Amino acid sequence: MAVLNVATDGVSGLPYHRRQYLLATDGRSLDKTSAIDELRAFLERHPRLFVLTGAGVSTGSGIPEYRDERGEWKRPAPVQYQDFVKREHTRQRYWARSLVGWRWFTRAEPNSCHYTLADWEHSGRIEQLVTQNVDRLHQRAGSQAAIDLHGRLDRITCLDCGTRIERDGFQQQLIDDNPEFAERTADIAPDGDAYLENVDFSRFRVPPCPACGGMLKPDVVFFGETIPKARVDAAVAALHRADALLVIGSSLMVYSGFRFCRIAAENDIPIAAINPGRTRADDLIGVKVERRFEDALPYLQDAPTGT
Ligand SMILES: [Zn+2]
Repeated sequence: MAVLNVATDGVSGLPYHRRQYLLATDGRSLDKTSAIDELRAFLERHPRLFVLTGAGVSTGSGIPEYRDERGEWKRPAPVQYQDFVKREHTRQRYWARSLVGWRWFTRAEPNSCHYTLADWEHSGRIEQLVTQNVDRLHQRAGSQAAIDLHGRLDRITCLDCGTRIERDGFQQQLIDDNPEFAERTADIAPDGDAYLENVDFSRFRVPPCPACGGMLKPDVVFFGETIPKARVDAAVAALHRADALLVIGSSLMVYSGFRFCRIAAENDIPIAAINPGRTRADDLIGVKVERRFEDALPYLQDAPTGT
């Protein structure tokens, strides 16, 4: 992390990361400097990045987002943890929709966003990649050290005995136990869900844990659930080692992502973001490119690598 002598700019009172943004123009007036040039300069100044990605990097792979460009819900809110563990009907509905959505979810392939970040990791440009996505597309593109902040949908865990099983094998179990649901089709929803409506979910049979008969849950962090502390601690430690925070494709509306911007701001770690819409951290972000990452990439390809 850069050693800083001053926390604020005495003239403007702006915190350091904002001041750096202004200085980055190097004598040119701000309105003549495009955000993309600012971002290129930012990447040059900060060769080791903490990168936080959100749903926006996977929409190009056909995985829908929950939120629109204003950060508002554009679909019904996802399942809540308490609902899932307390109500059998919620679990029946969840797994029935998952049975239908999974086959589409598994067809998603990594796109240029994922491949670029894997390249950045291999060239030493990334201190830590952290994703809010549960689709494992970063890993499939070749990223080896990504932290799945909200878990991964390709695994299931038993809430009673901790046994983990693969989602792929479980799909066959769901189909075997519920052949009438296997025939159904529905529009794909975020996170491997599908818009299966007007269906009697009470007839859906949810398989129990094969080891103990307990309650199975996808190995993802549901809304209303806490992220394992060790996972958060590892990510925060990496943020402190990084030169800067780069947010890609996230509105940061969920606190678990916004937290990294707050910590960065409190520790004078500069923040840049590439996101087509508003983010919850707009006040903290020094450099912001309001585009999709894949649309910004052609302008960033000749930016230096961090090796
Ligand atoms: Zn179990």
